Amino acid sequence: MATTQVTPRTSEKVAPAEMMKALVYHGPGKKTLDERPRPTVLKPTDAIVKVAKTTICGTDLHILKGDVPTCEPGRILGHEGVGVVESVGSGVTSFKAGDRVLISCITSCGKCAACKKGMYSHCSDGGWILGHLIDGTQAEYVRIPHADTSLHPIPPGSDEEALVMLSDILPTGYECGVLNGQVEPGATVAIVGAGPVGLAALLTAQFYSPAEIIVIDVDDNRLATARRLGATSTVNNTDGKAVEAVMQMTGGRGVDTAIEAVGVPATFAVCEGIVTAGGTVANVGVHGAKVDLHLERLWAHNVRITTRLVDTVTTPLLLKTVRSHKIDPNLLITHHSKLDDVLGAYDTFGRAAATKALKVIIDV
Ligand code: ZN
Ligand code: ZN
Repeated sequence: MATTQVTPRTSEKVAPAEMMKALVYHGPGKKTLDERPRPTVLKPTDAIVKVAKTTICGTDLHILKGDVPTCEPGRILGHEGVGVVESVGSGVTSFKAGDRVLISCITSCGKCAACKKGMYSHCSDGGWILGHLIDGTQAEYVRIPHADTSLHPIPPGSDEEALVMLSDILPTGYECGVLNGQVEPGATVAIVGAGPVGLAALLTAQFYSPAEIIVIDVDDNRLATARRLGATSTVNNTDGKAVEAVMQMTGGRGVDTAIEAVGVPATFAVCEGIVTAGGTVANVGVHGAKVDLHLERLWAHNVRITTRLVDTVTTPLLLKTVRSHKIDPNLLITHHSKLDDVLGAYDTFGRAAATKALKVIIDV
């Protein structure tokens, strides 16, 4: 077959990329609100979403501290949000332009061995990549790979601000804390750490009617919030005596489920110290250092220790519970900001003890 030589039409100019505002990570301690080219569909399974609302996560602060070396300078941060589909690739069948969507913090192909087990967090072509290995949601637009399995349709009439809490923190508290912790009716539960994820575990633990939920933190404001959200008692661990306090409160028995929602050795040690025989320590916290495993005490106590990265398999279930007002994620929202003032929002969120911030909604 004859081939035709195609002469490049040099007179044809490439249209300049449309620009957008985005919060960009520039290495430890450095971030700016930059102008960046708008993302475009790169694969048939991609969708481009115009972000309506996003938020900042403790994980973003970890990245900014330099704790996540796999996140490279130049990355747009953010893995939570809701928005409107702007365009889709030819392989996307469940969404079209104009659809309102909830963005999952976990990208899943739905086809690999991990996805088929419901372990989306370990998807061979996904997992936690948004705002980490690919550009994230703290921007006017975001590219979502595997859109069919990584976005959720927002039912008409939903409170979209509340749904931002479903991108990450509610499924994290529920899957890693409550489900892994096997919270049961009548049980005694302790949640160590009353940050947004600990409080998300507190809200979702109540699906199972535990008899007692003890929340432990070092911040009185957060403990007051925990009591408003359903904690039956709270312990301020500023003196480091939480284990003694919980053992006294439980008549020396300890708790059936201890949920670790901080991610440092001292709080993991509290969980090991208060779990009762036959109980579960459910780790949720992001640990950057090793912890001591007290097998000299625990070996004979029939204790389970669980770890997990959120899979977001429960997001559809949680959407229904929010729609039917079984839980109110708005209770976790303390501040509002605009994308133009995202640096101010980071400052507010980063000084949570002073500002009493839990989750900051950023309107884009
Ligand atoms: Zn997060
Ligand atoms: Zn997969």
